[in-house]
Amino acid sequence: MRADVQALLVLQDREQKIKALQTQQKSYPLEKKSLEGKLSASRALLDHARSLVKSNEVERRKLELDVEGKRTSINRFKTQQQQTRKNEEYTGLTKEIEHFEADIRGLEDKELELMEQAEQLQRGAATAEAEFNKTQVSIKDQLARLEAQAKATESRLAELQADHAKLAADVPEDTLDLFRRLFAKKGDAAVVPLEAEICQGCHMKVPTQIVFQVRGDQGITQCPQCGRILYRVI
Ligand SMILES: [Zn+2]
Repeated sequence: MRADVQALLVLQDREQKIKALQTQQKSYPLEKKSLEGKLSASRALLDHARSLVKSNEVERRKLELDVEGKRTSINRFKTQQQQTRKNEEYTGLTKEIEHFEADIRGLEDKELELMEQAEQLQRGAATAEAEFNKTQVSIKDQLARLEAQAKATESRLAELQADHAKLAADVPEDTLDLFRRLFAKKGDAAVVPLEAEICQGCHMKVPTQIVFQVRGDQGITQCPQCGRILYRVI
């Protein structure tokens, strides 16, 4: 194989590795964002579970105050009953008292209901907290691994780029230029093998004259269909 083609093959290998690493590098911020999103979703679930516990408590406290208020009123009505001499007023107060007592029973039923709910909500919050703690540990771990990967990729890229620059210095300028243009245009490979008269870049058969040129290592030969540089397989 021609030395310049051989050099291009090594260069191409580095170029492909660099490209793959750069693609990988682009995915890191997205992965990081997705992990952070999972963590904040878990945090939001925990916050929601806690807010349910809190509002249950507030509601219960409100009912308690309501009951207390009504009891105070009943006591006041009873005092008024003891002080009155009018039958009508006495009966009216009895009705008021009965009315308030019924209200208190209703409020206490509600309180009981809320207390049962409170147990459930507290269990829900405890589960959400355990889940969040687990998620936090796991995500912290994954983020650390991702960061280590990103660092390794970065240093590997720097190595490859330095190597690439050194290799490129050994290839003639016009050949390098052609290689660069082809690699940028094709995206996958600029230098491909010719196998059984078929270009392995576009998988088309090439004319016999081209086959001879490649087999004879006569200069840089390009595929007439796709333009990629061809080399023979020994
Ligand atoms: Zn081709």
